[in-house]
Amino acid sequence: MERTPEQIAKTEALFRNVNEEIRDASGRFEVDVGEFVCECGDPTCTEHVEMPLEHYEAVRSHPARFLVRPGHVKGPIEQVVERNHRYTVIEKVDRVITAIVKRLNPRPETT
Ligand SMILES: [Zn+2]
Repeated sequence: MERTPEQIAKTEALFRNVNEEIRDASGRFEVDVGEFVCECGDPTCTEHVEMPLEHYEAVRSHPARFLVRPGHVKGPIEQVVERNHRYTVIEKVDRVITAIVKRLNPRPETT
């Protein structure tokens, strides 16, 4: 079944919430690298993404950015902003989709 960009965005936002909890837990254990879940739009994806917590914070400071496994970029409406052998950082570029993921952002914007 083909999923709409809206459904994909909501799935990504859901995984982002999971990662926020992983980030909190990782901070408590005082580790430097968190083992996050892939935030791609596939609801059945259970792959993990390792990322330094510091870097995770930098990604999260952009409400339209998500971290995914290499090769898990799902749609034509997202732009790759960073890529290495461990993870890919994508950014939503579609106006409507960006509005959805911003609305679901667990971190209120301060600007
Ligand atoms: Zn994935």
